Amino acid sequence: MSDKATTHEFQAETKKLLDIVINSLYTERDIFIRELISNSSDALEKMRHESLTKKDVFDDHVPLEVTIELDDKKHTMTITDTGIGMTRAELETNLGTIAHSGSGDFVAELAEAARKDVNLIGQFGVGFYAAFMAGSKVTVQSRSWDGSEGNEWISDGSGSFSISECPGLHRGTKIIIDLKDDAQDYAQKWKVENIIKQYSTFVPFPIKLEGETVNTVQAIWTRSKSEITDEEYTDFYKFVANASDEPHYRLHFSIDAPLAINAVLFVPKENFESMGFGRVDPGVNLYCQRILIDQHSENILPEWLRFLKGVVDSEDLPLNISRQALQDNALVMKLRKVITKRFLKFLAEEAKRDSDFYLDFWNTFGIYLKEGVTSDYEYQKELAQLVRFESSRSEDGKATSFAEYVERMGEGQEEIYYINGPNRAAIEAGPYVEMFNKKGIEIIYTMEPIDDFVLSHLGEFDGKKLVSADRADLDLSKSGDTEADEDKSEKLSSDAGDDLMTWLKKSLGDKVAEVIESKRLVDSPAMIVNPDGYMTSSMERIMAASRMEKGLAPEASKKNLEINLASPLIKQLAELVKSDESFAADVAAQIYDNAMIQAGLVVDPMVMVERNYKILNKAVGA
Ligand code: ADP
Repeated sequence: MSDKATTHEFQAETKKLLDIVINSLYTERDIFIRELISNSSDALEKMRHESLTKKDVFDDHVPLEVTIELDDKKHTMTITDTGIGMTRAELETNLGTIAHSGSGDFVAELAEAARKDVNLIGQFGVGFYAAFMAGSKVTVQSRSWDGSEGNEWISDGSGSFSISECPGLHRGTKIIIDLKDDAQDYAQKWKVENIIKQYSTFVPFPIKLEGETVNTVQAIWTRSKSEITDEEYTDFYKFVANASDEPHYRLHFSIDAPLAINAVLFVPKENFESMGFGRVDPGVNLYCQRILIDQHSENILPEWLRFLKGVVDSEDLPLNISRQALQDNALVMKLRKVITKRFLKFLAEEAKRDSDFYLDFWNTFGIYLKEGVTSDYEYQKELAQLVRFESSRSEDGKATSFAEYVERMGEGQEEIYYINGPNRAAIEAGPYVEMFNKKGIEIIYTMEPIDDFVLSHLGEFDGKKLVSADRADLDLSKSGDTEADEDKSEKLSSDAGDDLMTWLKKSLGDKVAEVIESKRLVDSPAMIVNPDGYMTSSMERIMAASRMEKGLAPEASKKNLEINLASPLIKQLAELVKSDESFAADVAAQIYDNAMIQAGLVVDPMVMVERNYKILNKAVGA
């Protein structure tokens, strides 16, 4: 050690991470080799990319590779790469802090994953610090491609590390691990070879173990499909996705026009965002002639396809393109469009081929496609074919497509209907579906908060308007079984009905825009409908919640109250207005609140409960 040695404390988050790595991930120990090789591979990729564009590269002649040496006597493992290396400053920040965006969350999520299922850990990439799973002491010697003198970083993982000058190094990074007493079998060649074969077969540089190359360097996506086995694809998926499961779907395609593209895309089995792990980063890497241009590229696919894993390689891209320039490069945009369309076409084919398997996909990743509908107008036509919802005709839990709905539509029906509710049972017990059931018209159930936004963005399918059943101007007179429209029940006379509605409007005041006679209620006495054709009750609920989050008062739009003049309650109410108007006003307010609740909208619970007791007291004669 030279006298220029300095000692540094690990950042607090890093200490926590080290603690998890050393103490909780014991059973997943093997992955430290994968993590270190993956870092080496990244450094080599960067080197390959830089050397294409820059002239002054230190040690330009050394071959790009990873070498691993084992010492069974000294109990050490040494992993060396000829990548870009690190300067002293880089050693200090890169190996002292955590680079992940929002590092605090990252460690919390990691701790949670470790607690739930250590297999999930693989997805995180604990990175360099994994070295301390097997090492009692880790030494990193590194020299940057800028040619500045090399340095040595040493730590036992407990709380601090030291850095000192280390002259005479080649370009790249050497990591020397002093194996812990119970980790000494990592100095055995067979053991390390197995781990490399399991995790790192697809590293695009030679990995030499004790002088022998142990991986196949050829890029899988450039090979012909017929030559690649399922197992190879799955291994490749595990490699690019850092996953331990198998993919749900895979798509391997090559095209020459309009652009030359080779791509292998995977849909994983699990949706990590829905499991509460925060937003996932894009998982597709962009290559040009087998050279990595943009890892986890944000440019190659729209944001809502961030759940995909894999690689895209296009020879048409300029090799020396910088990451910033990718963003608004016309070619990249074209590439993105072609790949997106191809993937959506693939999904449509898969949905046809095996609809149950597609539904599994939909249940896990449908939320992303919905996000696509609301954020990306460009692919709406394709996405409309892919969305699935439950309906009055679908089995519980089995969603249906618009195309199937349209096929089932009866004569005279020109629109596609939907209604939002918290779940199937609640929707089916509510007033909105009454006439649909009576007339045998299928109605789609939207059960997620985002759904009504999705449908209003789509607007139509196959020329048929998508219409929410809580719209005030809904007209079912031409659809379904028209005989069901015939009113056989005893209604209030039209004069008495008019009087009652005028009185209700007066009694409810500003709470409603209008009180009108319902042509679609069958059993329920009343329901809330929206005169603004665009806004559904579900959308209003979400917007009110988001206003409240911002500290703003919810902005309720005016509602209409539709009443059922054949309902015994409504008929009796007309009488009650004459005999006990103040009690009638309580009943009216309660009917309104009930209808609001059935629409999923907010009422003041305290006021309601108090009124409810008043009414109950009357009912029992207290
Ligand atoms: P991650 O790889 O997820 O960024 P790591 O903790 O594994 O996190 O590594 C932190 C950083 O240290 C890397 O981003 C990289 O800049 C640097 N680094 C790690 N290993 C090497 C290496 N072998 N060669 C060059 N740089 C490296």
